[in-house]
Amino acid sequence: MSEAKVETHTFQTEAKQLLKLMIHSLYSNREIFLRELISNASDAIDKLRFKAIEAPELITEDAQYKIDITFDKEAKTLTIFDNGVGMTKSEVMTNLGTIAKSGTAEFLSNLTGDQAKDNQLIGQFGVGFYSVFMVADEVEVITLAAGSDEGVVWRSRGEDAYDIESADDLTRGTRVVLHLKDDALDFADDYRLRSVVRKYSDHIGVPVRMLKPAASDADEEAEAVAEFEAVNSAKALWTRSRSDVKDEEYKEFYKYVSHDFEDPVSWSHNKVEGKLEYTSLVYIPKKAPFDLYNREVPRGLKLYVQRVFIMDDAEQFLPLYLRFIKGVVDSSDLPLNVSREILQEDERVTSIRNALTKRVLTMLDTLAKKEPKQYQAFWDEFGEVLKEGAGEDFANREALTKLLRFASTRAEGDAAAKTVSLETYQSRKVEDQDKIYYLCAETYETAARSPHLEIFKERGVEVLLMFDRIDEWLMSMLTEYAGAQFVDVMRGDMTLPGEDSDKDDKDDEETDKGGKKSADEHPLIERISTVLGEKVEGVRTSKRLTQSPACLVLSEHAMGAQMRKIMEASGQKMPETKPYFEFNPTHPLLEKLDGEPDEDRFAELAEVLFDQASLAEGGTLTDPVAYVERVNRLLLELLNG
Ligand code: ADP
Repeated sequence: MSEAKVETHTFQTEAKQLLKLMIHSLYSNREIFLRELISNASDAIDKLRFKAIEAPELITEDAQYKIDITFDKEAKTLTIFDNGVGMTKSEVMTNLGTIAKSGTAEFLSNLTGDQAKDNQLIGQFGVGFYSVFMVADEVEVITLAAGSDEGVVWRSRGEDAYDIESADDLTRGTRVVLHLKDDALDFADDYRLRSVVRKYSDHIGVPVRMLKPAASDADEEAEAVAEFEAVNSAKALWTRSRSDVKDEEYKEFYKYVSHDFEDPVSWSHNKVEGKLEYTSLVYIPKKAPFDLYNREVPRGLKLYVQRVFIMDDAEQFLPLYLRFIKGVVDSSDLPLNVSREILQEDERVTSIRNALTKRVLTMLDTLAKKEPKQYQAFWDEFGEVLKEGAGEDFANREALTKLLRFASTRAEGDAAAKTVSLETYQSRKVEDQDKIYYLCAETYETAARSPHLEIFKERGVEVLLMFDRIDEWLMSMLTEYAGAQFVDVMRGDMTLPGEDSDKDDKDDEETDKGGKKSADEHPLIERISTVLGEKVEGVRTSKRLTQSPACLVLSEHAMGAQMRKIMEASGQKMPETKPYFEFNPTHPLLEKLDGEPDEDRFAELAEVLFDQASLAEGGTLTDPVAYVERVNRLLLELLNG
């Protein structure tokens, strides 16, 4: 080893940034580096256990899996050794020199420099191995991959670069040596270390060992003969019976599987016996991960078969819209050599997925009923993802629609907060109301101030206000809740509570066909139609408006503005849809307009009303310059007059 060549490599830019953060900004709760290291060691053992199913020769030596933790107070070192799968040189360089997570650069650019906030963000990101630099100023990773005879040493001070050299005479596995910072020497203390180690390892299925106290301060040589003892109970948490597991242990296990810093909101641990046998332990996290809306990121449960770890991110056990759920599933029926492809087609997996989906939805329902505040916080984080489910999961639609929350014209407190359930909405319906009214817009403000709401406000009829990108799509998938039809107040000729819908449909037909047949039709209809011409589908008097002069209304099946934007953003060309122009004949502006003899001036005013109606609902004008010119001409007239 004396002649070994040392290579120096620089960290990938993102890794460098993250390291800098570890070293300079993160101080709270530093002990979590041990959780990360124990978790990596246990994963390494899980991986080897899995590999050894097909290649038992990998573990002919050193077959007792273990994680050993030692320290040397004088040398100021802390060492974590595992006899797991180890790493080859190229694995070391990839795993400890780069960050493979997609979206890392974006994540890093979101950090604010404000420690409390950044700590939270980092928690959502998961810090992993690099957290060692919170407590160490130099770290060595000495590793030999199972089945290889070329050992590797990685060494770094967590700055720009790391050194790599080869090493002989290693035993299989990975040894991480931390040269502790002076302010982190409390981790070289038997009592302190034991309590931290127990906390972070009690639930994993491998013995985590420390030297028996009398010997633990001894030097390297003595260590070789000193006796180790297990510090943890070494029983995988989900294999224990529910009544034996304390809440604290469930929470720690969550942090272990999720790499989250925070406690989960709730969890559900179940052993299923019968035709299918499996154990599942699923958690609802508190905070959404930074890349929740990147649908490509691998995620899912940790899969075990008969307690042997098979894979991370087994996405087949939950639908995509429950991608935020963390946990494990341990099946007794699946074969040990199961692959992702097999999982995709296996009927047993489908049954487990259906059952787990129901279980999670029940958990959420219970949370909503028993802990409405916590549910609200959950909804603020994950509501939009759950909406994907309400739209796409037909089988569970009822359960999912119950979980939805919306902003509303009658929300108490902060009206923009999405707090109203459909059940609450139903309970507040006015007399004769058999429909659920809603409105979609770009922002809460546009929705809340929309002219389309005027008649509803006047009659005290609640309208749900929707302004998430996904809402218009969602509402195109949902038709009713508990027998009440959803009605978009911006579309068609909707009926108000207490009105006879048949009669109204007939009225609508008559005006739609150019409005020429109805005897009592308003004279403005024809005059405005002549001006607006091809821009609109039709012109009619409005029953929606009580304050505003005019509004635009989509026909029943036309694509809304939000969907159109999404489709166009994805590069699809959408056919033009024309709105109806509805005016309020009792508004003073229209009364005046009705008496306007000059056709040019009439046209000018009608155009302005049309553009304003479009602006009021957050639309963009096709010719904004023409609008400005018109308004300016009118202003000038006013000022001159
Ligand atoms: P994560 O564990 O979230 O993937 P880490 O930064 O903690 O991220 O580790 C990066 C990778 O380094 C791991 O995914 C694993 O492949 C490898 N690794 C870390 N520690 C060990 C170890 N003790 N034995 C084998 N591989 C390890």
